Amino acid sequence: MRLYPGDIGAATGLVINEWAQITRADGSAIAGLYASGNEANSIMGGTYPGPGITIGPAITFAYRAVRHALGAAQARRAASSGG
Ligand SMILES: Cc1cc2nc3c(=O)[nH]c(=O)nc-3n(C[C@H](O)[C@H](O)[C@H](O)COP(=O)(O)OP(=O)(O)OC[C@H]3O[C@@H](n4cnc5c(N)ncnc54)[C@H](O)[C@@H]3O)c2cc1C
Repeated sequence: MRLYPGDIGAATGLVINEWAQITRADGSAIAGLYASGNEANSIMGGTYPGPGITIGPAITFAYRAVRHALGAAQARRAASSGG
C-alpha cells in the first residue's frame, strides 16, 4: 500500500453513508464497520473550504456512528430476548 504523508487533514478516504457506515462500491453498507475523520472521504468532495471542516464532520459522524452501533446492539438484544 502506498502512503502519502500530509498535514492538516485528508480530503479522500473510505466512502461512508449518513450513519458513518463504510460502503461498498455498489453503495451498500458493511455492517459493523464505521469511519469518520481523516479515514473517511470528505463531505466537501476533495476541497478544503476552511478551518473546522475536518474536526466538525469528524465529531458529527463519530457521534452518528455510535448512535447507529448502539441501535444495532439494542435490536440484537431485543431479538435474542424475544421482544
Ligand atoms: C496544525 C494543524 C492544525 C489544524 N487545525 C484545524 C482547525 O483549525 N480546524 C479543524 O477542523 N481541523 C484542524 N486540523 C485538522 C484536524 O486536527 C484533523 O483533521 C483531525 O484531528 C483528524 O481527526 P482523526 O480522529 O481523523 O485523526 P487523528 O486526530 O490523527 O487521530 C488518529 C489517532 O489514531 C492514533 N493511531 C494511529 N495509528 C494507530 C495505531 N496503529 N494503533 C492505535 N492508534 C493509532 C493516533 O495516535 C491518533 O491519536 C488541524 C491539523 C493540524 C495538524
